[in-house]
Amino acid sequence: MPRGMNITSYANQYVLDLVAYQPGKPIEETARELGMAPEQIVKLASNENSLGPSPKAVQAMVKAASHAHIYPDGASFDLRSRIAKDFGVSFEQTVTGSGSSEIIELLCHAFMHPGKEIIAAKHSFSMYPIMCKLFGATYVEVENKPDWSHDLMGMLKAITPQTRLIFITNPTNPVGTMVFQEEMDAFMAQVPEHVVVAFDEAYIDFADVKPDTAKYLHQGKNVIIMRTFSKAYGLAGVRAGYAVSTPEIADMLNKARSPFNLNCIAQAAALAALDDREHVERSVEMVRAGREQYYRTFDSWGIGYIRSQANFILAKVGKGREVFDKALAQGVILRQMDGYGLPEYIRITVGTERENARCLEVLAGILGK
Ligand SMILES: *Cc1c(COP(=O)(O)O)cnc(C)c1O
Repeated sequence: MPRGMNITSYANQYVLDLVAYQPGKPIEETARELGMAPEQIVKLASNENSLGPSPKAVQAMVKAASHAHIYPDGASFDLRSRIAKDFGVSFEQTVTGSGSSEIIELLCHAFMHPGKEIIAAKHSFSMYPIMCKLFGATYVEVENKPDWSHDLMGMLKAITPQTRLIFITNPTNPVGTMVFQEEMDAFMAQVPEHVVVAFDEAYIDFADVKPDTAKYLHQGKNVIIMRTFSKAYGLAGVRAGYAVSTPEIADMLNKARSPFNLNCIAQAAALAALDDREHVERSVEMVRAGREQYYRTFDSWGIGYIRSQANFILAKVGKGREVFDKALAQGVILRQMDGYGLPEYIRITVGTERENARCLEVLAGILGK
Protein backbone atom coordinates (compact mmCIF):
# COMPACT_ATOMS: atom_id res chain seq x y z
CA MET A 1 0.00 0.00 0.00
CA PRO A 2 1.50 3.40 -0.92
CA ARG A 3 2.42 5.58 2.05
CA GLY A 4 -0.42 7.68 3.34
CA MET A 5 -3.01 5.49 1.64
CA ASN A 6 -5.61 3.88 3.86
CA ILE A 7 -7.29 0.59 2.94
CA THR A 8 -10.60 2.46 2.71
CA SER A 9 -9.33 4.36 -0.32
CA TYR A 10 -9.45 1.04 -2.19
CA ALA A 11 -13.00 0.26 -1.05
CA ASN A 12 -16.35 0.97 -2.70
CA GLN A 13 -17.14 4.62 -2.11
CA TYR A 14 -20.86 3.90 -1.71
CA VAL A 15 -20.13 1.52 1.15
CA LEU A 16 -17.97 4.14 2.86
CA ASP A 17 -20.77 6.69 2.42
CA LEU A 18 -23.41 4.40 3.89
CA VAL A 19 -25.18 5.43 7.09
CA ALA A 20 -25.95 2.15 8.84
CA TYR A 21 -29.46 1.14 9.92
CA GLN A 22 -30.38 2.47 13.35
CA PRO A 23 -32.28 -0.19 15.24
CA GLY A 24 -34.47 0.46 18.27
CA LYS A 25 -32.43 0.66 21.46
CA PRO A 26 -32.10 -2.80 23.04
CA ILE A 27 -33.71 -3.55 26.44
CA GLU A 28 -30.52 -5.02 28.00
CA GLU A 29 -28.41 -2.03 27.01
CA THR A 30 -30.98 0.42 28.39
CA ALA A 31 -31.31 -1.53 31.63
CA ARG A 32 -27.51 -1.51 32.05
CA GLU A 33 -27.25 2.22 31.42
CA LEU A 34 -30.08 3.09 33.79
CA GLY A 35 -29.13 0.58 36.48
CA MET A 36 -32.60 -0.97 36.20
CA ALA A 37 -33.73 -4.58 35.83
CA PRO A 38 -34.59 -5.55 32.22
CA GLU A 39 -38.14 -6.37 33.42
CA GLN A 40 -38.62 -2.73 34.37
CA ILE A 41 -37.94 -1.51 30.85
CA VAL A 42 -40.81 -1.00 28.42
CA LYS A 43 -39.67 -1.27 24.81
CA LEU A 44 -42.09 0.21 22.30
CA ALA A 45 -39.47 1.02 19.69
CA SER A 46 -39.35 -1.73 17.08
CA ASN A 47 -42.96 -2.77 16.38
CA GLU A 48 -42.45 -6.12 18.08
CA ASN A 49 -45.34 -8.15 19.45
CA SER A 50 -45.68 -7.62 23.21
CA LEU A 51 -47.61 -10.89 23.55
CA GLY A 52 -44.46 -12.73 22.51
CA PRO A 53 -44.23 -15.66 20.12
CA SER A 54 -46.98 -18.23 19.70
CA PRO A 55 -46.59 -20.98 22.34
CA LYS A 56 -46.84 -23.46 19.46
CA ALA A 57 -43.87 -21.78 17.78
CA VAL A 58 -41.88 -21.97 21.02
CA GLN A 59 -42.64 -25.68 21.28
CA ALA A 60 -41.55 -26.24 17.68
CA MET A 61 -38.31 -24.32 18.29
CA VAL A 62 -37.45 -26.40 21.34
CA LYS A 63 -38.01 -29.55 19.31
CA ALA A 64 -35.94 -28.22 16.40
CA ALA A 65 -33.08 -27.29 18.76
CA SER A 66 -32.24 -30.95 19.36
CA HIS A 67 -31.46 -31.28 15.62
CA ALA A 68 -29.25 -28.21 15.57
CA HIS A 69 -26.17 -30.26 14.62
CA ILE A 70 -27.69 -31.00 11.18
CA TYR A 71 -27.67 -28.37 8.41
CA PRO A 72 -31.17 -27.02 7.86
CA ASP A 73 -33.22 -27.81 4.76
CA GLY A 74 -31.71 -25.23 2.43
CA ALA A 75 -34.90 -25.13 0.37
CA SER A 76 -37.16 -24.54 3.43
CA PHE A 77 -39.39 -27.16 1.80
CA ASP A 78 -42.14 -27.46 4.41
CA LEU A 79 -42.43 -23.74 5.03
CA ARG A 80 -42.40 -22.78 1.35
CA SER A 81 -44.91 -25.52 0.49
CA ARG A 82 -47.23 -24.12 3.12
CA ILE A 83 -46.81 -20.55 1.84
CA ALA A 84 -47.40 -21.68 -1.75
CA LYS A 85 -50.63 -23.39 -0.68
CA ASP A 86 -51.83 -20.31 1.25
CA PHE A 87 -51.26 -18.04 -1.77
CA GLY A 88 -52.40 -20.50 -4.44
CA VAL A 89 -49.02 -20.30 -6.22
CA SER A 90 -46.36 -22.88 -7.08
CA PHE A 91 -43.48 -23.80 -4.77
CA GLU A 92 -41.10 -22.23 -7.30
CA GLN A 93 -42.79 -18.87 -6.77
CA THR A 94 -41.80 -18.68 -3.10
CA VAL A 95 -38.64 -17.57 -1.35
CA THR A 96 -37.76 -17.34 2.33
CA GLY A 97 -35.39 -14.89 3.94
CA SER A 98 -33.66 -14.15 7.19
CA GLY A 99 -36.35 -11.59 7.89
CA SER A 100 -37.99 -9.81 4.98
CA SER A 101 -35.05 -7.39 5.14
CA GLU A 102 -33.05 -10.11 3.43
CA ILE A 103 -35.65 -10.32 0.68
CA ILE A 104 -35.13 -6.60 0.08
CA GLU A 105 -31.41 -7.26 -0.20
CA LEU A 106 -31.99 -10.19 -2.58
CA LEU A 107 -34.12 -7.95 -4.81
CA CYS A 108 -31.21 -5.52 -4.95
CA HIS A 109 -28.83 -8.38 -5.82
CA ALA A 110 -31.08 -9.23 -8.72
CA PHE A 111 -31.83 -5.73 -10.03
CA MET A 112 -29.58 -3.04 -8.58
CA HIS A 113 -26.22 -1.74 -9.71
CA PRO A 114 -24.86 1.76 -10.36
CA GLY A 115 -27.20 3.58 -12.75
CA LYS A 116 -30.34 1.64 -11.80
CA GLU A 117 -33.08 3.23 -9.75
CA ILE A 118 -35.46 2.39 -6.91
CA ILE A 119 -38.60 4.45 -6.31
CA ALA A 120 -40.18 4.60 -2.86
CA ALA A 121 -42.28 6.96 -0.76
CA LYS A 122 -40.32 9.64 1.10
CA HIS A 123 -41.61 8.42 4.45
CA SER A 124 -41.16 4.69 4.33
CA PHE A 125 -38.86 1.94 5.56
CA SER A 126 -35.26 3.06 6.03
CA MET A 127 -33.87 -0.28 4.87
CA TYR A 128 -34.79 0.52 1.25
CA PRO A 129 -32.34 3.43 0.80
CA ILE A 130 -29.67 1.58 2.76
CA MET A 131 -29.87 -1.49 0.52
CA CYS A 132 -30.15 0.63 -2.61
CA LYS A 133 -27.03 2.62 -1.75
CA LEU A 134 -25.17 -0.56 -0.74
CA PHE A 135 -25.43 -1.57 -4.39
CA GLY A 136 -24.38 1.87 -5.64
CA ALA A 137 -27.81 2.43 -7.16
CA THR A 138 -29.97 5.56 -7.16
CA TYR A 139 -32.78 6.05 -4.64
CA VAL A 140 -35.69 8.18 -5.81
CA GLU A 141 -38.07 9.45 -3.12
CA VAL A 142 -41.60 10.54 -3.93
CA GLU A 143 -43.24 12.91 -1.45
CA ASN A 144 -46.15 11.38 0.51
CA LYS A 145 -49.62 12.77 -0.15
CA PRO A 146 -51.11 15.29 2.31
CA ASP A 147 -52.90 12.40 4.06
CA TRP A 148 -49.44 10.73 4.38
CA SER A 149 -50.27 7.80 2.11
CA HIS A 150 -48.10 6.81 -0.89
CA ASP A 151 -48.57 9.01 -3.95
CA LEU A 152 -48.91 6.20 -6.48
CA MET A 153 -49.49 8.53 -9.43
CA GLY A 154 -46.41 10.52 -8.41
CA MET A 155 -44.47 7.26 -8.33
CA LEU A 156 -45.64 6.42 -11.84
CA LYS A 157 -44.37 9.80 -13.05
CA ALA A 158 -40.98 9.13 -11.45
CA ILE A 159 -40.42 5.96 -13.52
CA THR A 160 -37.52 6.18 -16.00
CA PRO A 161 -35.98 3.53 -18.30
CA GLN A 162 -33.52 2.87 -15.43
CA THR A 163 -36.18 2.15 -12.81
CA ARG A 164 -36.19 -1.47 -11.68
CA LEU A 165 -38.00 -1.52 -8.32
CA ILE A 166 -40.88 0.35 -6.71
CA PHE A 167 -41.63 -0.31 -3.04
CA ILE A 168 -45.23 -0.04 -1.89
CA THR A 169 -45.27 -0.46 1.87
CA ASN A 170 -48.76 -1.39 2.91
CA PRO A 171 -49.45 -0.37 5.64
CA THR A 172 -46.41 1.84 5.60
CA ASN A 173 -43.76 2.28 8.27
CA PRO A 174 -43.29 4.77 9.99
CA VAL A 175 -46.61 6.52 9.25
CA GLY A 176 -49.13 3.66 9.37
CA THR A 177 -51.23 4.71 6.38
CA MET A 178 -52.37 2.50 3.49
CA VAL A 179 -53.16 2.56 -0.18
CA PHE A 180 -56.32 0.75 -1.20
CA GLN A 181 -57.44 -1.54 -3.99
CA GLU A 182 -58.90 0.88 -6.51
CA GLU A 183 -55.90 3.19 -6.40
CA MET A 184 -53.57 0.23 -6.61
CA ASP A 185 -55.42 -1.27 -9.59
CA ALA A 186 -55.13 2.02 -11.49
CA PHE A 187 -51.43 2.17 -10.64
CA MET A 188 -50.71 -1.44 -11.60
CA ALA A 189 -52.45 -0.98 -14.96
CA GLN A 190 -49.84 1.64 -15.87
CA VAL A 191 -46.58 0.23 -14.49
CA PRO A 192 -44.30 -0.70 -17.42
CA GLU A 193 -42.89 -4.23 -17.76
CA HIS A 194 -39.31 -3.32 -16.87
CA VAL A 195 -40.34 -2.36 -13.32
CA VAL A 196 -40.93 -4.80 -10.45
CA VAL A 197 -43.48 -3.66 -7.89
CA ALA A 198 -42.54 -4.86 -4.40
CA PHE A 199 -45.44 -4.91 -1.96
CA ASP A 200 -43.99 -4.86 1.53
CA GLU A 201 -46.78 -6.24 3.67
CA ALA A 202 -44.93 -6.50 6.99
CA TYR A 203 -47.94 -5.03 8.84
CA ILE A 204 -50.81 -6.37 6.73
CA ASP A 205 -52.22 -8.47 9.59
CA PHE A 206 -53.07 -5.29 11.51
CA ALA A 207 -54.92 -3.59 8.66
CA ASP A 208 -58.71 -3.34 8.80
CA VAL A 209 -58.93 -3.80 5.02
CA LYS A 210 -56.43 -6.00 3.17
CA PRO A 211 -56.11 -5.18 -0.53
CA ASP A 212 -55.62 -8.21 -2.79
CA THR A 213 -52.10 -8.02 -4.18
CA ALA A 214 -51.84 -11.73 -5.06
CA LYS A 215 -54.21 -11.10 -7.96
CA TYR A 216 -51.49 -9.11 -9.77
CA LEU A 217 -49.31 -12.19 -9.51
CA HIS A 218 -52.07 -14.36 -10.95
CA GLN A 219 -52.35 -11.80 -13.78
CA GLY A 220 -48.68 -12.48 -14.53
CA LYS A 221 -47.42 -9.02 -13.52
CA ASN A 222 -43.92 -8.44 -12.24
CA VAL A 223 -44.74 -8.11 -8.57
CA ILE A 224 -43.36 -9.52 -5.35
CA ILE A 225 -45.30 -9.71 -2.09
CA MET A 226 -43.12 -9.66 1.02
CA ARG A 227 -44.22 -10.75 4.48
CA THR A 228 -42.45 -11.19 7.79
CA PHE A 229 -42.76 -13.19 11.00
CA SER A 230 -41.26 -10.29 12.97
CA LYS A 231 -44.41 -8.27 13.66
CA ALA A 232 -47.83 -9.90 14.22
CA TYR A 233 -46.24 -13.35 14.57
CA GLY A 234 -43.92 -12.22 17.37
CA LEU A 235 -40.76 -13.85 16.00
CA ALA A 236 -38.48 -10.85 15.36
CA GLY A 237 -35.62 -12.55 17.20
CA VAL A 238 -35.47 -15.65 15.02
CA ARG A 239 -35.32 -13.73 11.70
CA ALA A 240 -37.83 -15.18 9.28
CA GLY A 241 -39.59 -13.61 6.33
CA TYR A 242 -40.82 -14.72 2.93
CA ALA A 243 -42.05 -13.57 -0.41
CA VAL A 244 -44.16 -14.82 -3.29
CA SER A 245 -43.46 -13.63 -6.81
CA THR A 246 -43.29 -14.76 -10.42
CA PRO A 247 -41.29 -17.97 -11.06
CA GLU A 248 -38.57 -15.91 -12.81
CA ILE A 249 -38.11 -13.39 -10.00
CA ALA A 250 -38.33 -16.01 -7.23
CA ASP A 251 -35.73 -18.10 -9.07
CA MET A 252 -33.32 -15.17 -9.20
CA LEU A 253 -33.73 -14.50 -5.49
CA ASN A 254 -33.29 -18.17 -4.64
CA LYS A 255 -30.05 -18.18 -6.64
CA ALA A 256 -28.79 -15.04 -4.91
CA ARG A 257 -29.50 -16.09 -1.32
CA SER A 258 -26.97 -17.97 0.79
CA PRO A 259 -27.78 -21.69 0.76
CA PHE A 260 -28.91 -22.01 4.41
CA ASN A 261 -30.30 -18.51 4.96
CA LEU A 262 -33.15 -19.73 7.16
CA ASN A 263 -31.86 -21.77 10.09
CA CYS A 264 -33.67 -24.86 11.40
CA ILE A 265 -35.09 -23.05 14.45
CA ALA A 266 -36.51 -20.25 12.29
CA GLN A 267 -38.08 -22.70 9.81
CA ALA A 268 -39.77 -24.66 12.59
CA ALA A 269 -40.98 -21.52 14.36
CA ALA A 270 -42.38 -19.93 11.21
CA LEU A 271 -44.26 -23.05 10.16
CA ALA A 272 -45.81 -23.51 13.60
CA ALA A 273 -46.66 -19.80 13.84
CA LEU A 274 -48.62 -19.95 10.57
CA ASP A 275 -50.77 -22.65 12.15
CA ASP A 276 -51.58 -20.57 15.23
CA ARG A 277 -54.18 -18.16 13.80
CA GLU A 278 -55.57 -17.66 17.28
CA HIS A 279 -52.32 -16.09 18.48
CA VAL A 280 -52.26 -13.69 15.54
CA GLU A 281 -55.89 -12.75 16.14
CA ARG A 282 -55.19 -12.10 19.82
CA SER A 283 -52.24 -9.92 18.84
CA VAL A 284 -54.28 -7.96 16.31
CA GLU A 285 -57.04 -7.46 18.91
CA MET A 286 -54.48 -6.13 21.41
CA VAL A 287 -53.21 -3.66 18.82
CA ARG A 288 -56.70 -2.48 17.82
CA ALA A 289 -57.62 -1.81 21.45
CA GLY A 290 -54.23 -0.21 22.12
CA ARG A 291 -54.50 2.17 19.17
CA GLU A 292 -57.81 3.44 20.62
CA GLN A 293 -56.19 3.81 24.03
CA TYR A 294 -53.57 6.15 22.51
CA TYR A 295 -56.03 8.03 20.29
CA ARG A 296 -58.36 8.75 23.22
CA THR A 297 -55.52 10.06 25.34
CA PHE A 298 -53.90 12.11 22.58
CA ASP A 299 -57.32 13.62 21.72
CA SER A 300 -57.83 14.64 25.33
CA TRP A 301 -54.33 16.19 25.37
CA GLY A 302 -54.85 17.94 22.06
CA ILE A 303 -51.81 16.21 20.57
CA GLY A 304 -51.61 15.41 16.87
CA TYR A 305 -51.13 11.86 15.60
CA ILE A 306 -51.60 9.86 12.44
CA ARG A 307 -54.33 7.21 12.52
CA SER A 308 -52.57 3.92 11.93
CA GLN A 309 -53.39 0.65 10.21
CA ALA A 310 -50.32 -0.94 11.81
CA ASN A 311 -49.03 -1.73 15.31
CA PHE A 312 -47.46 1.68 15.88
CA ILE A 313 -48.52 5.31 16.00
CA LEU A 314 -46.68 8.47 15.01
CA ALA A 315 -47.40 11.17 17.59
CA LYS A 316 -46.55 14.82 17.06
CA VAL A 317 -44.80 15.76 20.27
CA GLY A 318 -42.74 18.77 19.15
CA LYS A 319 -39.13 17.98 19.90
CA GLY A 320 -39.09 14.26 19.18
CA ARG A 321 -35.47 13.69 20.15
CA GLU A 322 -35.96 15.38 23.53
CA VAL A 323 -39.09 13.37 24.27
CA PHE A 324 -37.24 10.21 23.24
CA ASP A 325 -34.35 10.98 25.64
CA LYS A 326 -36.63 11.85 28.54
CA ALA A 327 -38.79 8.74 28.10
CA LEU A 328 -35.65 6.61 27.82
CA ALA A 329 -34.36 8.00 31.12
CA GLN A 330 -37.55 6.63 32.69
CA GLY A 331 -37.16 3.21 31.12
CA VAL A 332 -39.56 3.63 28.18
CA ILE A 333 -37.86 3.06 24.82
CA LEU A 334 -39.60 4.82 21.93
CA ARG A 335 -38.33 5.46 18.42
CA GLN A 336 -36.89 8.84 17.50
CA MET A 337 -37.77 9.92 13.98
CA ASP A 338 -35.06 12.45 13.04
CA GLY A 339 -33.43 9.81 10.84
CA TYR A 340 -36.77 9.49 9.02
CA GLY A 341 -37.04 13.24 8.42
CA LEU A 342 -39.81 13.60 11.00
CA PRO A 343 -38.08 15.34 13.94
CA GLU A 344 -41.34 16.57 15.49
CA TYR A 345 -42.66 13.05 15.83
CA ILE A 346 -42.07 10.03 17.96
CA ARG A 347 -43.08 6.51 16.88
CA ILE A 348 -44.72 4.39 19.54
CA THR A 349 -45.26 0.65 19.12
CA VAL A 350 -48.65 -0.41 20.46
CA GLY A 351 -48.04 -2.89 23.28
CA THR A 352 -50.13 -4.42 26.03
CA GLU A 353 -52.65 -2.23 27.83
CA ARG A 354 -50.23 -1.96 30.74
CA GLU A 355 -47.26 -1.00 28.60
CA ASN A 356 -49.34 1.59 26.77
CA ALA A 357 -50.55 3.02 30.09
CA ARG A 358 -46.97 3.25 31.35
CA CYS A 359 -45.87 4.96 28.14
CA LEU A 360 -48.76 7.44 28.35
CA GLU A 361 -47.99 8.14 32.02
CA VAL A 362 -44.38 8.95 31.16
CA LEU A 363 -45.41 11.06 28.14
CA ALA A 364 -47.93 12.97 30.30
CA GLY A 365 -45.10 13.94 32.63
CA ILE A 366 -42.79 14.98 29.82
CA LEU A 367 -45.41 16.95 27.90
CA GLY A 368 -46.97 18.50 31.01
CA LYS A 369 -50.42 16.95 30.44
C1 LIG B 1 -40.19 -4.59 10.22
C2 LIG B 1 -40.30 -4.37 8.77
C3 LIG B 1 -39.91 -5.34 7.86
C4 LIG B 1 -39.39 -6.69 8.20
O1 LIG B 1 -38.34 -6.79 8.99
P1 LIG B 1 -37.66 -8.21 9.22
O2 LIG B 1 -37.57 -8.32 10.69
O3 LIG B 1 -36.37 -8.15 8.53
O4 LIG B 1 -38.56 -9.26 8.63
C5 LIG B 1 -40.07 -5.09 6.51
N1 LIG B 1 -40.62 -3.97 6.09
C6 LIG B 1 -41.04 -3.02 6.93
C7 LIG B 1 -41.68 -1.80 6.39
C8 LIG B 1 -40.88 -3.19 8.30
O5 LIG B 1 -41.25 -2.22 9.13
